[in-house]
Amino acid sequence: MEAISDKILVCGAGGFIGGHLVADLLKQGYQDIRGVDLKPFKEWHQHVPEIENLRLDLQDRTACERATRDVRIVFNLAADMGGMGFIENNRALCMLSVLINTHLLLAAQKHNVERFFYSSSACVYAADKQTSADVIALKETDAYPAMPEDGYGWEKLFSERMCRHFREDFGIVTRVARYHNVYGPHGTFDGGREKAPAAICRKVIQAKLSGKREIEIWGDGNQTRSFMYIDDCIDGSQRILASEILEPINLGSSELVTINQLVDIVEKIGEIKLKRNYNLKAPKGVNGRNSDNTLIKKHLRWEPATKLRDGIEKTYRWIYDQVSSGAN
Ligand code: NAD
Repeated sequence: MEAISDKILVCGAGGFIGGHLVADLLKQGYQDIRGVDLKPFKEWHQHVPEIENLRLDLQDRTACERATRDVRIVFNLAADMGGMGFIENNRALCMLSVLINTHLLLAAQKHNVERFFYSSSACVYAADKQTSADVIALKETDAYPAMPEDGYGWEKLFSERMCRHFREDFGIVTRVARYHNVYGPHGTFDGGREKAPAAICRKVIQAKLSGKREIEIWGDGNQTRSFMYIDDCIDGSQRILASEILEPINLGSSELVTINQLVDIVEKIGEIKLKRNYNLKAPKGVNGRNSDNTLIKKHLRWEPATKLRDGIEKTYRWIYDQVSSGAN
């Protein structure tokens, strides 16, 4: 019998969540880790020279075969994505990430990978369930009948089902988490792919440093969301992969805030009050979205619990250091 290797593959290791996952696996004592990303190493969010780092385009099937060789566990966190500003204007690019998950699954099948994690998104949820800021939290069953976010959400929904059918037909243990807005240090905070928490922190910091006491907010500020701190995302992803949860499951915070309340929190941390200019033409996504955590609490007796105030404080401090040192 062939010896089972303990090699863990992190796809998208140069990105925000992938970088944190690698750091956490190392902290837990895992040593045989392969990190793969399309970006040149100098652009990776976190540099971890002690693991095997490969630069590959995972849309390519041969690259996926190289990446999965001798691997026991795969985390697929690689995708061409960003905040609303990016996904509303780059639908074809978002949909092309379907090649990454498809080729990774085929390669995983070929190399007898044992467990495969796929990072899906709350963008799979039907738009007609998210028309009001006064939300009813989204349950996993709300993804069907399907009417997801155009482009990005369709790709995620399709790839979820691909994972399901590879599990049913080929026996790969696939697990799928639907992430709801993840934020934290080492995330993208400028350049067009940043999401609301990082963008608002950066804008408040820039206003503070420049003395221009104004902030532009996308939408009317009344849209509601929940935001999950990165540590909860990393912890929850590993719990879901190790679990017996067969269907895609929400991984998100259930602490609901309006964008205006998020700005209040950041202003308080930055000890500043700004004039708010609402840009009603900017991409703002759905009116309201929250994570129903009934299922994750039932299966894991756990849910993301970091308070938004605490997570934003750490994120703000990190972005402050980046902006004030000119790292952006
Ligand atoms: P990220 O953009 O920081 O990381 C994704 C990484 O994938 C990037 O480093 C990118 O270079 C890499 N990548 C893209 N195309 C590739 C290719 N062809 N080959 C190899 N690498 C490639 O994003 P993230 O925030 O770390 O998100 C990770 C995963 O979680 C993604 O699948 C994303 O859709 C999902 N997700 C994230 C959030 C969030 O709030 N951050 C929410 C829902 C779902």
